[in-house]
Amino acid sequence: MSNLEPLVDSLGRIHTNLRVSVTDRCNIRCFYCMPNENVQFLPRRDILTFEEIERFVRVAASLGVNKLRLTGGEPLVRSGLPELVARLAAIEGIYDIALTTNGILLEEQAHALKDAGLTRINISLDALTEETFRKIARRDGLDRVLAGITAAKTCGFKKIRLNAVAIKGVTEPEVVPLANFAREQGLEMRFIEFMPLDAENNWQHDQVLSGEEIRRQIEAAITSLEAAERPDPSQPATDFRFTDGRGTIGFINPVTQPFCEDCNRLRLTAEGRIRNCLFSTVEWDARALLRGGGTDKDLTQLIRDCVRAKKPGHGIDSADFQKPEKAMYQIGG
Ligand code: SAM
Repeated sequence: MSNLEPLVDSLGRIHTNLRVSVTDRCNIRCFYCMPNENVQFLPRRDILTFEEIERFVRVAASLGVNKLRLTGGEPLVRSGLPELVARLAAIEGIYDIALTTNGILLEEQAHALKDAGLTRINISLDALTEETFRKIARRDGLDRVLAGITAAKTCGFKKIRLNAVAIKGVTEPEVVPLANFAREQGLEMRFIEFMPLDAENNWQHDQVLSGEEIRRQIEAAITSLEAAERPDPSQPATDFRFTDGRGTIGFINPVTQPFCEDCNRLRLTAEGRIRNCLFSTVEWDARALLRGGGTDKDLTQLIRDCVRAKKPGHGIDSADFQKPEKAMYQIGG
């Protein structure tokens, strides 16, 4: 437990949750996130080392951060990820380490990650048909993702979620099959509204398939849903239970129902910049301190500065909304 003042912003939001991007590289090219060709990835020397990430997390944990999520890019393309998980799991105060992955390399790595101390996995799965998968990811890989899901189940991860980005005209026909698949597999399905974070700048408001619309489709096709309890007020998803008792489903609705007022998340990008929001246009440079002789006190001050500057909301719907220069894969989803 931390003895220091927690990370409180000007609205009283206490930050205990850190998303760490371990790479901007990815093995697929989802159109809502990445460019299709000629991606300019960060040079390897610009990416934080495991030692640097570990030191940053140790300082953040001393300020009350207790939950981590490893993300990217695709975190499983970073070699030796289980080693990083083990280092982070050993940090005092960190009790939960989750991973967000596209699942393509999960079959090979699930056991090692579990043994290293990973507690939860979210696997992104937008489609169950090869054709739609390829239309979105612009690469093959559905069979690998399904194998990854099986591997995660086999090695005993208790909490496995499936995440699907919902996009009008693209993933609508997948919604009900995905919900049924998750029910059959005993997994939790979460639908995420499409956000303006695509590298190709094609996002349009009318492409957003809202959580409410998806809920209606699922209720009409499967069975009714009832609101589930909300154990963690800062969780981004609103969860529902199927009234036949077979499973739960969640909706992350950042566009139609922003949840910024309960946000407790900070982000560390692969090149070591701290962000207080996905949509932030400002970043705080932790790498400069990590590599330039900065003390833990300096890092503490930088994290506090970043938290204090957090805006009340992401502002997607405001007239002066400015899309961040970075796309999702460069920030860490
Ligand atoms: N590669 C990993 C994966 O696919 O899960 C981790 C990184 S990915 C950026 C994290 C999550 O962000 C994925 O579930 C992805 O579908 C989601 N995502 C990416 N771009 C998005 C966008 N523009 N709107 C909503 N969700 C997005």
